Amino acid sequence: MKEYDVIIVGAGPGGIFSAYELVKKNSALKIGVFEAGHSLEKRKCPIDGVKVKSCIGCKPCSIMNGFGGAGAFSDGKYNITNQFGGTLYEYIGKNEAIELMKYVDEINISHGGEGTKLYSTANTKIKKLCLQNDLHLLDASVRHLGTDVNYVVLEQIYDELKDKVDFHFLSPVDKVEKSGDAYEISVKDEKYCGKTCIISVGRSGSKWMEKVCRDLEIPTKSNRVDIGVRVELPAEVFSHLTDELYESKIVYRTAKYGDLVRTFCMNPKGAVVNENTNGIVTVNGHSYEDPARQTENTNFALLVAKHFSEPFKDSNGYGESIARLSNMLGGGVIVQRFGDLTTGHRSTQSRINEAFITPTLNATPGDLSLVMPKRILDGIIEMIYKLDKIAPGTANDDTLLYGVEVKFYNMEVEVDANLETLHKGLFIIGDGSGITHSLSHASASGVHVARYIAGETL
Ligand SMILES: Cc1cc2nc3c(=O)[nH]c(=O)nc-3n(C[C@H](O)[C@H](O)[C@H](O)COP(=O)(O)OP(=O)(O)OC[C@H]3O[C@@H](n4cnc5c(N)ncnc54)[C@H](O)[C@@H]3O)c2cc1C
Repeated sequence: MKEYDVIIVGAGPGGIFSAYELVKKNSALKIGVFEAGHSLEKRKCPIDGVKVKSCIGCKPCSIMNGFGGAGAFSDGKYNITNQFGGTLYEYIGKNEAIELMKYVDEINISHGGEGTKLYSTANTKIKKLCLQNDLHLLDASVRHLGTDVNYVVLEQIYDELKDKVDFHFLSPVDKVEKSGDAYEISVKDEKYCGKTCIISVGRSGSKWMEKVCRDLEIPTKSNRVDIGVRVELPAEVFSHLTDELYESKIVYRTAKYGDLVRTFCMNPKGAVVNENTNGIVTVNGHSYEDPARQTENTNFALLVAKHFSEPFKDSNGYGESIARLSNMLGGGVIVQRFGDLTTGHRSTQSRINEAFITPTLNATPGDLSLVMPKRILDGIIEMIYKLDKIAPGTANDDTLLYGVEVKFYNMEVEVDANLETLHKGLFIIGDGSGITHSLSHASASGVHVARYIAGETL
């Protein structure tokens, strides 16, 4: 059996930054990274819009799995803030969380990200405009790498690590078992042993993570899912916000139910894309830094957070059921014009074709009111009218709504301030821990455990 000082499960930002920092702190460490997906250059989603128009359920999925994790083809927005993107600060403290996010930013900059822009909400007049309209702009700095530069950064980090770390691709870890003071993992027919084990399996590994926690009796809790739509409109409508802030996280409390609706993952001049989570097709978005690859539209999600209290525990199951319903009716993602939704009409292909906006995703025209719970849809419609006050044109009849967008949260795993479980030497980080929900927080959690492991454990 091959033995390592540190085994890392998952090569998303959490796993990559743990490996990076471990190598930096102690180059003598034997580190093995086990990743269910392909190496970066082999990650190719077959959807080309011509031969393959929608998700065909590849295993492993090249969008969610492989070197770079779920973030590899993302818009590469690294938000430096404690106001959203996770609750890492609750474990490691606000100052350290921000310091680590800044450190991650420096590494990205020194690996191909130089020249990309850092946007900030500090001193913006948009905050006042939002407040005057009952909307709340959250504070953040955001480094926008863009899908293209994000890829280059990953390539450069991989080049730096590949001779110092054993990467095992197409190696889904089946089991993690305690073996004395160490951990044994099973991958296909092979077993590997690590004195320390970092698990960073992201959202795509959520079901597997639940099993590991059950087997090792690690306490967990789960109670949240965000459900909503992706809005697509002409880029000019939001340009005064996106030019200055790139991404604005705006929160609104609905008058009708008192629910919080928020903008999420804004992609100026970007494209709407499919996302496949455990076989369920939902919607997401991204954009490119390279002007040649930009579109005429901006997209962003409007999400309503749903917190459940006891005895209901399966918040992700609730979100999945809604997404399944849209897949059942639309064969995938449904698209509807805002005007059709508010007047109670199903959108048809001809109405979409006649609209003054060209959709960037080939989705099935349909009726979101048959899919989304009324409370959530009412909140989204209220928010669109509010956004229309700060960005006139948002509530235009031709504004496109794609559904559903679901933000699944992994169950939150019980860990201490070092992100270590009740089993000494077993760490759970990144989105798989339920503590982070973003590139910057997941990466920062990786650096945090690596520093602790290099300094304390081995
Ligand atoms: C389309 C898209 C766009 C996004 N855009 C942004 C953005 O602009 N900004 C932002 O902050 N966030 C964005 N996100 C979210 C962001 O990608 C995640 O928050 C981040 O990748 C989490 O990092 P992670 O390392 O925790 O997990 P992941 O990136 O999910 O990586 C986990 C890895 O573990 C592997 N794995 C899972 N199970 C196993 C197993 N059993 N054995 C071995 N390997 C396993 C997976 O294959 C995966 O590669 C986006 C996500 C998507 C899907």
